[in-house]
Amino acid sequence: MVLDAPGQSLRQAEVPLPVTGVDEVLLKISACGVCRTDLHVMDGDLPKPKQPLILGHEIVGVVVEKGARVERFAVGQRLGVPWLGHTCGHCRYCANGRENLCDEALFTGYTLDGGYAEYTVADQRYCFPLPEGYTDAEAAPLLCAGLIGYRALVAAGGAERLGIYGFGAAAHIITQVARAQGRKIFAFTKPGDAAGQRFAIELGATWAGDSTAPPPEQMDAAIIFAPVGALITQALRHTAKGGTVVCAGIHMSDVPKFPYSILWGERTVRSIANLTRRDGEEFFDLAPKLGVRAEVELFRLESANEALDCLRQGRVRGAAVLVMD
Ligand SMILES: [Zn+2]
Ligand SMILES: [Zn+2]
Repeated sequence: MVLDAPGQSLRQAEVPLPVTGVDEVLLKISACGVCRTDLHVMDGDLPKPKQPLILGHEIVGVVVEKGARVERFAVGQRLGVPWLGHTCGHCRYCANGRENLCDEALFTGYTLDGGYAEYTVADQRYCFPLPEGYTDAEAAPLLCAGLIGYRALVAAGGAERLGIYGFGAAAHIITQVARAQGRKIFAFTKPGDAAGQRFAIELGATWAGDSTAPPPEQMDAAIIFAPVGALITQALRHTAKGGTVVCAGIHMSDVPKFPYSILWGERTVRSIANLTRRDGEEFFDLAPKLGVRAEVELFRLESANEALDCLRQGRVRGAAVLVMD
């Protein structure tokens, strides 16, 4: 499914099989998650996408061919391809464990072709072996919603009372991790989204309500997954002194002007950008131990436009995943 240019729908097309580089694996894809970032790429919210482009950065597939330098994976092995597809390895960010900030990084389904396809190639150094016990479709959302959610959760520190704004794919996974860690979750959805609020309560949230409503008590931190800048000030107003508001999305509407008094008291506002391979290793170790499950709604590859529409309209419970034959 090809995106010719931002602002367009995806087009079903036959394209040549990608050529496998020396550090790359050729994967036959079985599942690929649909992420909000895909909508941002499609809408032209992110600068300079590859064009034409195959979206998708939560790829699960089996190795069918490997390059000469590939030693980590065998033909026939299942693996996952995340958003981070390449880094330079020597800039000041790469050199001190912050490869997620690399200036030369390439991203799957954005500046590299991704997984809304039957086959893809990926640099083995950025792929993850996937824990047993997850089906291909269940494993797919762990590769971004899970990983980025996990990075955001770590950035929220030891917060005991944690607010989550936007209860989609990442929130539903990270709520399970946070509950297993003994934290209290306050889940905020779009005003009136009763189904989303019920879903949050089912997953163990202590309280769920409209994003415009106050939580039942102050929060020690908040994670914002919804792409709405106004939620930063909403969250700050309900965050205790010393607390952190973490913005986990790649794009947000502008942040409204706000009084310094709501930041005062050593509150922090920060963003989360991309992932490091270390985040992935930690998360894929932790998720099965904590019994984290992704709830998935399946769509056929050729229905990718429909899946994206459902996501845009907030009609997906858990994560949307494309499945291939
Ligand atoms: Zn994503
Ligand atoms: Zn770098």
